[in-house]
Amino acid sequence: MTGLADCNNFFVSCERSVDPSLCGKAVVVLSNNDGCVVARSNEAKRLGVRMGQPAFQLRDMIRDRHLIALSGNHLLYRDISLKVHAIFRRFVPDSIDYSVDESFLDLTGIPVDVIPDIGNAMVKACMDELSIPVTIGFAPTKTLAKVYAENAKKGGCPVAVCVNAADALPLLQRLPISDLWGIGRRLAKRLYQNGVYTAADFISRDAAWVRRLLGLQGERSWRELHGQPCIDLDHVLRPIQDSISESRTFPEDVDDPDYLRARIVIYASHCARRLRDMNGVCRSVGVFLRTNPFRPGLPVVRPEGITRLLHPTSLTTEIVEAALAQLDAIYPRGIPFKRAGVWLADITPDSAVAPSLFDEPSSRSAAMKFMKTIDAINDRSHRPAIRLASQIVNPSAHAAHNDGYSTSFQAPRPLGDEPMP
Ligand SMILES: [Mg+2]
Repeated sequence: MTGLADCNNFFVSCERSVDPSLCGKAVVVLSNNDGCVVARSNEAKRLGVRMGQPAFQLRDMIRDRHLIALSGNHLLYRDISLKVHAIFRRFVPDSIDYSVDESFLDLTGIPVDVIPDIGNAMVKACMDELSIPVTIGFAPTKTLAKVYAENAKKGGCPVAVCVNAADALPLLQRLPISDLWGIGRRLAKRLYQNGVYTAADFISRDAAWVRRLLGLQGERSWRELHGQPCIDLDHVLRPIQDSISESRTFPEDVDDPDYLRARIVIYASHCARRLRDMNGVCRSVGVFLRTNPFRPGLPVVRPEGITRLLHPTSLTTEIVEAALAQLDAIYPRGIPFKRAGVWLADITPDSAVAPSLFDEPSSRSAAMKFMKTIDAINDRSHRPAIRLASQIVNPSAHAAHNDGYSTSFQAPRPLGDEPMP
């Protein structure tokens, strides 16, 4: 069994947890610059406020005090989000934080008959400790858990359990196919054209038909609704940072462009690996260099630049290539540098349920598989067993420059940050 735990009206609930006078009132939270609605209390939903509705359309309601509109306090939401996810983890063997207010729960090995008790205890802990209302759906697959959680939330019941996929049929008959997790607007349109309007219509077709029409992604959803788990926890995105960076201060000033290139390759590879570990992709790759500010007679030079990629990626080869191109663009020959670094920005989740990934099995997914295989091999060895050739420079020329990374064929020292000069 698996589960999906989802906080109700999360941003509004966070605001209510610090200001209980908001409870029972129609409240919305607005996006950055107060542009549009990003969270609604149930009372606001009943007033007809839509998700994403522009704030200016609500002016009259706000003026007449029917509706309270708040600017988002994202530090607060992030703080509460971490605490909610920590509570979820207390009750289940494993969980994946799927979004700021949702976690998938792994209940492997837990008897089905105790699952409702676990769910109720989780809901109670979130309410008692954080005043955050939570709804949890349990089911044999993630897609069904999501269906049950969403349905339970509408009914105002905090825990719903689906023991057999067949039990879900009445619920699927009422579920518009466009509302099914993993079926985007585009796939839904294709299904409408073929007479499929509800999730029940969808599962009544056969698997081969679904695969022909929607590809692997659609077939996965279909199998999950039939109770066959096929979206595993690793497919689901991990929490995403905004940016990743790695930089080092060299023991000596470096004026050898080849050595500098090898450093940039290593930093970029490490960043790419961290990006893959959180199932993210990045759109921008930046490089910077710093001269030694304490060396007399040397001008302070701080070149840096950022490359915008055509396609978001987490492939080491593509990220390294962009970093090297950027280095070439900013590197002034002949100046010795003391510090260098790489950063990745514009990071977004590389969700397995994103349509673009499975629309056509491309060379990109083959490259990704290759990359993950290298990651797995490197995980098993004490130090990277497989590296890019560009990470390796002639050891004799730079024995004194070993700053902790294995750029040469010598045994590396343990990783460590060098102090600033
Ligand atoms: Mg939610």
